[in-house]
Amino acid sequence: MGNSTGKIIIISAPSGTGKSTIIKRLMEVSELNLRFSVSATNRPPRKGEIDGVNYYFLSTEEFENKIQNNGFIEYEEVYTGRYYGTLKSEVEKTLNEGHNLILDIDVKGGINVKKLYPEAAAIFILPPSIEVLRQRLIGRGTDDMETIEQRVAKAEYELSFASKYDYSVVNEDLDKAVNETETIIRNFLKR
Ligand code: 5GP
Repeated sequence: MGNSTGKIIIISAPSGTGKSTIIKRLMEVSELNLRFSVSATNRPPRKGEIDGVNYYFLSTEEFENKIQNNGFIEYEEVYTGRYYGTLKSEVEKTLNEGHNLILDIDVKGGINVKKLYPEAAAIFILPPSIEVLRQRLIGRGTDDMETIEQRVAKAEYELSFASKYDYSVVNEDLDKAVNETETIIRNFLKR
């Protein structure tokens, strides 16, 4: 087991679906041997975020240099002017070390990685409904109504890609969603 290469698990979900919480809980399950793929981004760090842990925070120029030098397996402009990319170095290092790599990336990025690594597991986390998603974003209290409506509209668009993923999990109840995702990953890793 120890010296085989790791496997890739892609997780995508619209904003407000609880994806980060689910991933955090999965990372705590040590038998799954998961390592988080730390992406690069040119967006500024949020409060509490650490460079090299949550993201590699780069200037736009540094990000562009990495594109030129072929440093990414994929990158996307997820929000206007905000770039996010999966680093080749992260993917290769983690897989060679025999760990399984979990990618928290947007829908387009997820589909691109699935094309590059068809053997990867692509999991889509869905909100119970668009209305529940809207209420959760309101409840989070971090965005104004205009931003919330933009995120809801983006979510509706993203949901149309769910069928391109190998698995989907509805996050109605957090514990159930975590268990369901864990079962999917366990079965995938056994193959
Ligand atoms: P946030 O700014 O909230 O951390 O992330 C915004 C979005 O960017 C999330 O949907 C997240 O999954 C996505 N994202 C993070 N890293 C990457 C990446 O390396 N590639 C792509 N395509 N999307 C990413």
